[in-house]
Amino acid sequence: MNQNCDNFKDRIADSFSGGLAKGQEEELRDHIKGCSECAAFKVALKSEDELLGRLFAGFEADLERQQGDVIKALFCVETNRRDKVIARINSLIDHPAFKLAAAAAVILFVTFYSIKTLNWLYDLKNFMDVCSVTIK
Ligand SMILES: [Zn+2]
Repeated sequence: MNQNCDNFKDRIADSFSGGLAKGQEEELRDHIKGCSECAAFKVALKSEDELLGRLFAGFEADLERQQGDVIKALFCVETNRRDKVIARINSLIDHPAFKLAAAAAVILFVTFYSIKTLNWLYDLKNFMDVCSVTIK
């Protein structure tokens, strides 16, 4: 092995990531044809690269499955929470005290607006009276 081989071994690693210029790639190919050590290094590195690729593919698939599980779990928690809130609201609405309170609220609302409307009509009548007095 010579100093040159160290440089070519760096290039072999770069060639897997496609980081070599065309001229460098040709130079590397020529060197490997004549150097058994670099050729063996390339084969070993390639098999290591493929092994890592398979390992990460497994990780990615597992990660995707876990993400799916987390999303499902979150959706279930959210659905359960929503169902509980709806059930609680329904039980409140069904309670007799709620119906009584709702009826009282409607009566108060109608009374309040009736009084306001009567006041407004009274004010309008006074205004009309003042106007008619002024016209006369
Ligand atoms: Zn070499």
